[in-house]
Amino acid sequence: MQKPVLTISELHANVEDKEILKGVNLEIKGGEVHAIMGPNGTGKSTLSSTIMGHPKYHVTSGTVTLNEANVLEMSVDERARAGLFLAMQYPAEVPGVTNSDFLRTAMQTRMEDGKDVPLFKFIRELDKNVEKLEMREDLPHRYLNEGFSGGEKKRNEILQMLMLKPNIAILDEIDSGLDVDALRIVGEAVNSMRSENFGCLLITHYQRLLDHIKPDFVHIMMKGRIVKSGGAELIEKIDREGYDWIKKELGIDDERVIVEEQKRKVTSIGTCATKEMLDL
Ligand code: ADP
Ligand code: MG
Repeated sequence: MQKPVLTISELHANVEDKEILKGVNLEIKGGEVHAIMGPNGTGKSTLSSTIMGHPKYHVTSGTVTLNEANVLEMSVDERARAGLFLAMQYPAEVPGVTNSDFLRTAMQTRMEDGKDVPLFKFIRELDKNVEKLEMREDLPHRYLNEGFSGGEKKRNEILQMLMLKPNIAILDEIDSGLDVDALRIVGEAVNSMRSENFGCLLITHYQRLLDHIKPDFVHIMMKGRIVKSGGAELIEKIDREGYDWIKKELGIDDERVIVEEQKRKVTSIGTCATKEMLDL
């Protein structure tokens, strides 16, 4: 099998006619774990949704390729079949579809035509992974994410990853809502996937997940772009000093993509302050 390579180049994308991604460049190869860190509102989730083909996000220029294939021309299910996987920051609840039916259908779409996911093998693997993730045993039989706690939803995303065995996985803030034990379990699960056939993009703004999963590359996102890349030393520095030093170094005063609305609010409440006083 060919080693997977996801290449993102000069990617620009809009949401509701607002440009959120402003030229993202990133290459993730099989065997590598990349972390994207950055404060809230800098475009991290937009990047993951855009790669996966969420209909709200419109690519205006740039390319995304998986090996030789043009990802941007694929439908969402074609992207999944090609080996891309996204664990969402806010997984949706799907009442009426059981977790195990969902998983089996998703796995089926990755099979060659005419081949079925063998039922026994599926059940064995599901049981093994549910145990590995220390999930409640009834979870596979409940409706997808319905009534799951925040932590259960996140583990369930990882369960999907373990079952689907993607070539490139994007995990968007998989650590939010997880306690210390769950973090370790999720970390171990991701580490167990590591191989030449698996590349991973971890999106997070805390360093605590990265204690469990050691990334090979660390990227910082601000204003809809990757503004800095390096190794694990970046995590330690951000943990100690936050993001201000990067903003200072790069001359960025506000790291968020959209700041106009905030400014408008300030001007509209400022009856006694002039625009100049507020330095707008
Ligand atoms: P991050 O994940 O880094 O916190 P996001 O990508 O979620 O950042 O958001 C970046 C900016 O894009 C924010 O200002 C956010 O409000 C806006 N945005 C993202 N997705 C949507 C959407 N579906 N509809 C409207 N605005 C959005
Ligand atoms: Mg986000």
